[in-house]
Amino acid sequence: MKKNRLGIIGGGQLGMFTCIAAKKKNIKSIILSEAEEFSAKNFCDKYFISDFKNLNNLDKFIDSADYFTIETENIPISIIHYIEKKKKVFPCSKVIEIAQNRLKEKKFLNSINGINTTEYLQPKNFGDFKYASKNFNYSCILKSKELGYDGKGQYKINKNNLDFFKEFNFNNFILEKIVDFKKEISVIVVKSNANTINYPIVENIHKKSILRESFYPSKVNKKIKSEAITKSFEIADQISLNGVLAIEMFILKNDQILINELAPRPHNSGHWSMDACNESQYDNLINSIFFNDLIPPQVRAKCRMVNLIGNDYKKIKSLKKKYRCYDYYKKEIRDSRKMGHYIILDQLNS
Ligand code: ADP
Ligand code: MG
Repeated sequence: MKKNRLGIIGGGQLGMFTCIAAKKKNIKSIILSEAEEFSAKNFCDKYFISDFKNLNNLDKFIDSADYFTIETENIPISIIHYIEKKKKVFPCSKVIEIAQNRLKEKKFLNSINGINTTEYLQPKNFGDFKYASKNFNYSCILKSKELGYDGKGQYKINKNNLDFFKEFNFNNFILEKIVDFKKEISVIVVKSNANTINYPIVENIHKKSILRESFYPSKVNKKIKSEAITKSFEIADQISLNGVLAIEMFILKNDQILINELAPRPHNSGHWSMDACNESQYDNLINSIFFNDLIPPQVRAKCRMVNLIGNDYKKIKSLKKKYRCYDYYKKEIRDSRKMGHYIILDQLNS
């Protein structure tokens, strides 16, 4: 029987865009969501609302699809292992396991020749932490190893707030040195058995640790571009990627590239590919799972993608008059919550 059913764990906006891409290619999408209300609800062919760890429902979800993917890496790895015993997951558990834990991710990245991350330490207790903070000149961030996103689970450290962490459980955190970067960029790589492709570099602007804007073309020089792409392919190779991997990077003032983090799924900084490329990151995710042959993206326009965060969402009606707007259909506005985005296109030769 033809395999044409995709199970997606998580039903947020990334899941929603994956469902839309699947439909275009006659692939059925089935969502597993822990939330009652979720962005992908009206875009999937079927859904299960259940605690991921409910094995009875997980079995039903596994039976309902041929292949599986994720739209968030914050899923207990035991669930991925459980699915993998029966069916294939894109990317595989090895990739997800590394990318969902900052410590494993940093160890993996630094083990690759020519790849570096920011410096970090692993304080075990308050004394360690004070010593480590001093080592970083009190310019560092305590980051949770797991479950962090959009700056959640992160604490900026300074000389005056150390005592706040007296009772802290440091086991779940790493302490990372703050770098004075010149730019943030990201590269999205998609890999199948047949080929590996990349989306061109975009430049990212964060405010309060949340992505505000991504734009193409990036204003980085050719040498950095080529180095960033080479590093991305090396990482995709070393991690044995199958599917999509987004790689966030810092470019330092001396042009050194540090890898910030990996996302084993489509990425917010790749939304622009839906409007400005012939084949989006979501389309190529579907290609990597069902069709093997990936379609290298051809860029049709210059593009700026702007996130609507929290109350920004209230502007969506008026923005719609001018720009292509995407609504994530979230039930309520929350501070720091990504509610939608809009796209500004411009001619390539302008
Ligand atoms: P998240 O998983 O929340 O995206 P990140 O580690 O990517 O976590 O941090 C979010 C943002 O915070 C980064 O994109 C960057 O703007 C800023 N940031 C994180 N770590 C550092 C660092 N070591 N030095 C400088 N800025 C940082
Ligand atoms: Mg990040």
